[in-house]
Amino acid sequence: MSVAILTFFLYTQYSKANTNTASTGNLVGPILKVYYFDVGQGDSIFIKTPEGKDILIDGGPDATVMERLGETLPYWDRTIDLMVLTHPHADHIQGLDDVLKNYKVGEVIETDLKNPTPEENYFNKLAGLTEIQKAVKGEKINLESDLDLQILYPFGLQVNEEDLNDDSIVLKMIYKGRSFLFTGDATTNVESKIEDQDLKADFLKVGHHGSRYASSSAFLEKVKPAVSIISVGAGNSFGHPTRDTLDRLSAVGSRVLRTDKAGTVEVDVGSNGEWVVSCSKGCN
Ligand SMILES: [Zn+2]
Repeated sequence: MSVAILTFFLYTQYSKANTNTASTGNLVGPILKVYYFDVGQGDSIFIKTPEGKDILIDGGPDATVMERLGETLPYWDRTIDLMVLTHPHADHIQGLDDVLKNYKVGEVIETDLKNPTPEENYFNKLAGLTEIQKAVKGEKINLESDLDLQILYPFGLQVNEEDLNDDSIVLKMIYKGRSFLFTGDATTNVESKIEDQDLKADFLKVGHHGSRYASSSAFLEKVKPAVSIISVGAGNSFGHPTRDTLDRLSAVGSRVLRTDKAGTVEVDVGSNGEWVVSCSKGCN
């Protein structure tokens, strides 16, 4: 049995092991892989591009991200090509400490805050060895021939909303007609500011861990996500996600997967635009 056939065999077996795995058909490579890591109460999303680049959006609240990267990357891969820090809150940034100590990070994208939090200062110190870019709306990062990353928010340098969550970078990634929206902890305040942009996305990283202050009905009507992923810790003290948000997501017909129940959620998109979702603890 050739390596290619064996790999495909193992892959399909893995997919079948996860009950209720959603799929649009058979994937043809090269494949884009997006992992919404189970890191407890926080956010960390890892992207393996079709050409093999590694991108990390946020690092979760602690060193759990190291375990997740260890499960996902081959042991010899110690490079993260691009790291995005959506906003400097501990549940998004703290895990990046270990990542920066253990991986060579090529480039960092972050916001430009006038009054950085202690966490922001800490991060900048650690990231001093890497190239740092400030996120501004309208920038389009052509990662590869068929893979684009667009910055929808913030609108300019030196964002400084009253709520630091509303300084979150909002990103859209498109591969072969399939789109992903990454919202950090942006609330309805930001959602209304970006409503005139093309928000349609197949896969939505639900804003602010499914809190009641994000994911307005108007916003969700524009995104119309087939699958929504909520990154949330089991039994968290914030009550995330709230019933209101879950109801609004089901009202637009979106399937909802939560990392506290499903574990790490993986979305794979083939070069034919077909996709499959699988979950480390089973999707349901
Ligand atoms: Zn958060």
